Amino acid sequence: MRDKVIKVVCEGQGNNQVAQHPRIYLQVQENSEVTCPYCGKEFVYEPSEC
Ligand SMILES: [Zn+2]
Repeated sequence: MRDKVIKVVCEGQGNNQVAQHPRIYLQVQENSEVTCPYCGKEFVYEPSEC
């Protein structure tokens, strides 16, 4: 079985200028989550439904 990984982009939390940062790409493993090292935003794996 292959690990499913999705890519997400984070460039800060919008209107909060303090939390803004350069655009970075994060990889989220299936059934896992990743936290943005800049702003602490959490991204949870969400399977795309086509
Ligand atoms: Zn971020």
